[in-house]
Amino acid sequence: MIADVTRSLGTDYYLLEELLTDEEREVRDRVRAFADREVIPIINDYWDKAQFPFELIPKVAELGIAGSTIQGYGCPGMSYVAAMLVAIEMARGDGSLNTFFGVHSGLAMGTIDICGSEEQKERWLPQMARLEKIGAWGLTEAKHGSDSVMLETSARREGDEYVLNGEKRWIGNATFADLISIWARDEADGQVKGFVVEKGAPGYSTELITGKMGKRAVWQANIYLDNVRVPVENKLEGANSFKDTNKVLTATRGGVAWEAVGHAVAAYEAALTYAKERVQFGKPIASFQIIQNKLANMLAEITAMQLICYRLAKLQEQGKMTGPMASLAKMNNARKARQVCAEARDCMGGNGVLLEYIVARHLSDMEIVYTYEGTDTVQSLIVGRDVTGIGAFV
Ligand SMILES: Cc1cc2nc3c(=O)[nH]c(=O)nc-3n(C[C@H](O)[C@H](O)[C@H](O)COP(=O)(O)OP(=O)(O)OC[C@H]3O[C@@H](n4cnc5c(N)ncnc54)[C@H](O)[C@@H]3O)c2cc1C
Repeated sequence: MIADVTRSLGTDYYLLEELLTDEEREVRDRVRAFADREVIPIINDYWDKAQFPFELIPKVAELGIAGSTIQGYGCPGMSYVAAMLVAIEMARGDGSLNTFFGVHSGLAMGTIDICGSEEQKERWLPQMARLEKIGAWGLTEAKHGSDSVMLETSARREGDEYVLNGEKRWIGNATFADLISIWARDEADGQVKGFVVEKGAPGYSTELITGKMGKRAVWQANIYLDNVRVPVENKLEGANSFKDTNKVLTATRGGVAWEAVGHAVAAYEAALTYAKERVQFGKPIASFQIIQNKLANMLAEITAMQLICYRLAKLQEQGKMTGPMASLAKMNNARKARQVCAEARDCMGGNGVLLEYIVARHLSDMEIVYTYEGTDTVQSLIVGRDVTGIGAFV
């Protein structure tokens, strides 16, 4: 069931390959080979047992991709198209690993890059690029998910420190992360600000969330902040209002649109292979018109998603991407990839529900992609506000 390069190229129906630079092809092939060789053979077991594959962290570090588009500070400074290819290939291998990486490299490192001072970037980014220090990113709270702008975690300045109090929910990597970006409301001016809490800070504790139906091989946790003291040097210099939080969310949202493609490609490839091999009524099911129709529909959706992703990456590179553009991509791709995974699962009949046939894992993972970094509905409301000029959700 492991997709080889030939099959992967089979999903490049409109030859996007031709638009890539040599560097972009190289990083894609590097991550693809890593996913095929190191991830796919071992990940089902981790997913089944809801264990995180710590053994893969040094191997991800060796790939030299953490920090993605960030220039300097030991980061690869790759193009946005290359970053897109990394997300697609990693999610094609496994969505949980991609989520781990997205939280660390996109959200946590991205926040320091976008909101940190020069000194803060120098202090943290090189170690994070080498994955010697792992990042987490805490915005969501139990009472504030879609309306995270109303978050209640508080920050109070006391001399050379800030004192943080509150709770966060669903925070990826939080149980073992070394550097946790926490968004909290400053009691002095009521603004949402960003702080980096370091592992071992007294008053910081976590509780693993168990029983998930998707992305089972990556861990999220509740975070409890009980009078956690953070030195003023750990207050992110440029994180001074929710607008700054939104800058990070907008910058990383495309990554969720990209990962959706990886899930869809993996499911489609598995369904195509299966349809050619599975014989019913004396013929491979791939010879039946309805199965071919399903495969064609899946490939059409994948192709449309790829084109959206490529163009979005180019717009982001040129500084022309708006928040609603990123929302439209996340909304469309998560929706479509979820459908593709469901169709692929159906093409595989009963075997489609078994982990060893991989599509069930991608389908379940897509439920998470559909919801996190802003639900499908909330993304549509952001686009709706943009096209009508009327905010329907605030
Ligand atoms: C596996 C996983 C990993 C995550 N990782 C992180 C992380 O690392 N860091 C982090 O900070 N957060 C993380 N999250 C949180 C995630 O971003 C939120 O779950 C998401 O934004 C939705 O918030 P909620 O779960 O509170 O749902 P709610 O906001 O309660 O939404 C429930 C339903 O109501 C709908 N809804 C809400 N408002 C409106 C409205 N105005 N109009 C119409 N419908 C509406 C939603 O679309 C949804 O269907 C993660 C979540 C999951 C599940």
